[in-house]
Amino acid sequence: MHIEGIKLTKNTTDVVIIGSGMGGATAALALAPCGATITILEKGAQLLAIPENRDARAIFQKNYFASTDLWYEPGGASFAAGNHYNHGGNSKFYGAVLSRYRERDFEGVSYPDGDAPPWPLTYRDLAPWYDKAEALFQVRGSAHEDPSEPPRTNPLPFPPVPDEPAIAEVRRRLSGVGLRPFSLPLGIDIDTWLKHGQTGWDGFPDARTGKMDAETCALQPALAFANVTLQSGASVRRLICSPDGQRVTGVEYEQGGQVKVLNAGVAILAAGAIPSAAILLASHTSGLANRSNQVGRNLMSHNTSALIAFDRKFNNDSVYQKTFGINDFYLTGGPGGSPLGNIQLLGRVTGAILKANIPHIPERLLERLTRHSVDFFVMSEDLPSEKNRIRLEHERIVLDWERNNMTTHRALVARLKTVLRDAGFRFSVEKLFDRKSPSHQCGTIKMGSDGARSPLDCWGRTFDCENLFVTDASSFVSSAAVNPALTVAALAMRTAWHIRETELHA
Ligand SMILES: Cc1cc2nc3c(=O)[nH]c(=O)nc-3n(C[C@H](O)[C@H](O)[C@H](O)COP(=O)(O)OP(=O)(O)OC[C@H]3O[C@@H](n4cnc5c(N)ncnc54)[C@H](O)[C@@H]3O)c2cc1C
Repeated sequence: MHIEGIKLTKNTTDVVIIGSGMGGATAALALAPCGATITILEKGAQLLAIPENRDARAIFQKNYFASTDLWYEPGGASFAAGNHYNHGGNSKFYGAVLSRYRERDFEGVSYPDGDAPPWPLTYRDLAPWYDKAEALFQVRGSAHEDPSEPPRTNPLPFPPVPDEPAIAEVRRRLSGVGLRPFSLPLGIDIDTWLKHGQTGWDGFPDARTGKMDAETCALQPALAFANVTLQSGASVRRLICSPDGQRVTGVEYEQGGQVKVLNAGVAILAAGAIPSAAILLASHTSGLANRSNQVGRNLMSHNTSALIAFDRKFNNDSVYQKTFGINDFYLTGGPGGSPLGNIQLLGRVTGAILKANIPHIPERLLERLTRHSVDFFVMSEDLPSEKNRIRLEHERIVLDWERNNMTTHRALVARLKTVLRDAGFRFSVEKLFDRKSPSHQCGTIKMGSDGARSPLDCWGRTFDCENLFVTDASSFVSSAAVNPALTVAALAMRTAWHIRETELHA
């Protein structure tokens, strides 16, 4: 093979994994014991242990960790790509809420504005893999407090992260008005985290200081195997295919200013839902593995709002805050009994964090306000739509999407405001999260049972290329209304098992 202008290395690997985030690193660890040579190509570098990791002003006001890559709006305006490119991917910054989808999320859900479609697999199919993912990410929590918790055989591996006293008071007040707050399933070793700085962890990057993320729990253990290697700063541009288009033969990537090719027997795409779709679109004139014309479409990322509730008499001296959630409205509570979604505490919003959103008010005034407030993350499902998509225009990633299913989101916010009022938080303000940082991005290379309508089968294998698999959040059929990372990890383990059985015979 000779490609003009490209440095061909002699590199060959049994399995190439593109991306070392939740889906990529988890797949690497699950495949590692089989002995096949596994090469992970990761665009970013390892996050360093630097003071900015725990500096709210650096993170939220100065956007210290924002990507230098650009994405584009349909009109041509650019903005900083809303992804983190580093070992461990977006999970290095995540809030570490590791929830299972509910049974009904796999069956299809009806809302006033439309329907979330069923998946080609059931909760029962994924439940054993959720067990394994919870063990791997050392999830803390209490599985029987959540009224919407699906059936499970194992308890969570560790007891819940404790409420700080101020948060215990909020929990009591909400229980007092009839809700059933539950301890969030969390991947955080709180003692280790706090030893490195008195901050919350939601949005704060983790230089291996107690967050159970993809680097700490999956990538590092995978790299302990002699057959697994990581190429850092290796940005994949496209996949290379056999002439009949039915097998991927290699990967073209850029590293240190050089364009290189790595030949591979099996390719696993796990670059995140937006970059993975972009790589497939760049790999063929009509998109690789895109007979269905669905690659890049159905982009979802949840409808999410931050809601801050005030009570002069309430004293919030908490540091991390993010310990409980409310799922009383997950299965019902909306118009005509329809579901509304999930509510969970945000990481503690301090004056320095609020200042990033309200720059004209002095930070010390905001700090005084936040001593009497508590902060929530309100999340409801958005629906897959062919019109909501990423496109490539001259190699630029264009995000072309509109919000949908907002009747439900507005109803959930209103419901929360009412219960908070009843619980003594008489005043609250809310703000929709910006769509330019689609932190729960998913759906762009969806699973299905028919190759004419979906790029992936129920094992995460592309219908069109027999040795090409996807293990990141691209594969999601619907976004449900819980955080996605545990489902990414469970699906990645299941796909890795399938690859071992069918491709590597190990
Ligand atoms: C601030 C924040 C808070 C969050 N909180 C939560 C939470 O509490 N719970 C939860 O479940 N989810 C949370 N999420 C979402 C969660 O992090 C993602 O759902 C999850 O990381 C997705 O996994 P992934 O494998 O699809 O992608 P990622 O984890 O993003 O991994 C993709 C990897 O691919 C690499 N990559 C990208 N392009 C290329 C390329 N061209 N070549 C090579 N490598 C490439 C990236 O650098 C990255 O390492 C949060 C996200 C953010 C940003």
